[in-house]
Amino acid sequence: QKEEWAKLKDEPTFSQDGEQVELAANIGTPDDVGGVLNNGGEGIGLYRTEFLYMGKSELPTEEEQFEAYKSVLEQMGDKPVVVRTLDIGGDKELDYMDLPKELNPFLGFRAIRFCLENEDVFRPQLRALLRASVHGTLKIMFPMIATLEEFRQAKAILLDEKEKLASEGIKTSDNIEVGIMVEIPSTAVIAKQFAKEVDFFSIGTNDLIQYTMAADRMNEQVSYLYQPYHPAILNLVNNVIEAAHSEGKWAGMCGEMAGDSIAIPILLGLGLDEFSMSATSILQARSQISGLSKEKMASYKDKLLSMGTAEEVVEFVKEKTN
Ligand code: PEP
Ligand code: MG
Repeated sequence: QKEEWAKLKDEPTFSQDGEQVELAANIGTPDDVGGVLNNGGEGIGLYRTEFLYMGKSELPTEEEQFEAYKSVLEQMGDKPVVVRTLDIGGDKELDYMDLPKELNPFLGFRAIRFCLENEDVFRPQLRALLRASVHGTLKIMFPMIATLEEFRQAKAILLDEKEKLASEGIKTSDNIEVGIMVEIPSTAVIAKQFAKEVDFFSIGTNDLIQYTMAADRMNEQVSYLYQPYHPAILNLVNNVIEAAHSEGKWAGMCGEMAGDSIAIPILLGLGLDEFSMSATSILQARSQISGLSKEKMASYKDKLLSMGTAEEVVEFVKEKTN
């Protein structure tokens, strides 16, 4: 089986009925890129930049960040790289920032909320990204977007830094797509409104499931509620994909669900454009998709979305795909 998968390493990803999707990888550092290419990744769907900020005693400099982003972009050549701006808070703490302890860190001052209040942290990251953008195909993604205003504000700061760089005579790419993670239910629900303003969506199911089911993703006692196949999740995912397509935008997924063998047939049928997963899952996913009919999976859409439980969903998918 491993040999069969290896043959697919440098192939594009097609379903049995000839529909193309993109299989990308999630990474945390420039050192991860080799593994992505060795496993046939067609892009980076999520570069988690927190690692640049974690496990050290102070903020990374703009220069340090520039080198990291440039390295990833150069190694990927013309393949797309989606870099997520800083997503600290929740499960990711920074000792040196001395942020106040919160009762509900997952519902608290994190990610874009923190960045919009701490422009001295946010702006250097955006500058580093903009400067690196000439070295490959960069897409910038903001995490934990709950409102349109947050997106507009973050994008305005990005454009402001771009203008500043231009006035300093520093070149930046003019083709940087700017998108958001959809990991908060409010955003999934009004995805249609967001789709008019963003260039793309990437669905972060790790958080989207936790917030939709009101079940802490780290708490064992409520882990039975952590249900990727719950029809509520499928309906939100479908809403996001439809919204994107209605505005001619693309929709990806970078939560764990994107690499899950039960979820993949469902997501293919819902029309997901990009699946971003751990590098080691890519070849298996490509092989699985090559045996699936997108049209057939799409024909089950209404039925799946109207089911009552995750269990029904799983049973149905297993029956239809074996
Ligand atoms: C997610 O929430 O699904 C996601 C990809 O981000 P993280 O796991 O880093 O929160
Ligand atoms: Mg998340």
